[in-house]
Amino acid sequence: MSAVFISLFILGASVAALAVWVHAAGQAIDGVRFEQDYSAPVARALQLQYAGVRQALLSEGPISGMKRKLLAPLESDYRALTYLMQRVSCSRSGPYANKLRLLRLDFQLLRLSAAALRLVSPQAWRATLGDMTQVLEYFAQVAGQRLQASANVFAVAPVGSAGAPLLGICSYCHYVRSPAAGSAERWITSDSYRQRNGTTEVVLSHGICPDCFDHLVKPTSAPPDIR
Ligand SMILES: [Zn+2]
Repeated sequence: MSAVFISLFILGASVAALAVWVHAAGQAIDGVRFEQDYSAPVARALQLQYAGVRQALLSEGPISGMKRKLLAPLESDYRALTYLMQRVSCSRSGPYANKLRLLRLDFQLLRLSAAALRLVSPQAWRATLGDMTQVLEYFAQVAGQRLQASANVFAVAPVGSAGAPLLGICSYCHYVRSPAAGSAERWITSDSYRQRNGTTEVVLSHGICPDCFDHLVKPTSAPPDIR
């Protein structure tokens, strides 16, 4: 009996210590300021749900019905954002690399922490999910900033202007279709395009690249994952 009690005590203390650490790590990103809000357009484009989850957490409704409904959307946001951040990572975003690795670890620990806390403390569970939304918003900011940097590579010609080549661009990751006639279509970064073609004016035609279709479009149109 006492061994069980000691085990439970150690488990409880470990979970509490973990919760304090991951909460502190999440709070650390509060101090980061971006020069503009890059997260909102990314959230719209990817149909991210973290803002809705944040609202639901603030509501006073019974927590029992919310538990599973709120965690799954955050996990789905996490998958979409980590894919996009990696896809549009570029040399200009180097300083964020270590911080992003830490925050990815933090998110995973918050997930575990949420699973443990939901049985113990509804308040701590709400706070943990709130921290997860903070991490996701930060990821959306970084992804948005990277996308902005990649779009700035182009000199965009006014619609209808003669002479400027039509360039297919992915609406999500801003990769462009490499105009390699006769071979399989290839999508390359805007930086690679500029290195090959210089900074010529282009007319952009928006589409979806196959990678983003697989990672971002397919999962949202798939039937809900019932566990
Ligand atoms: Zn894409």
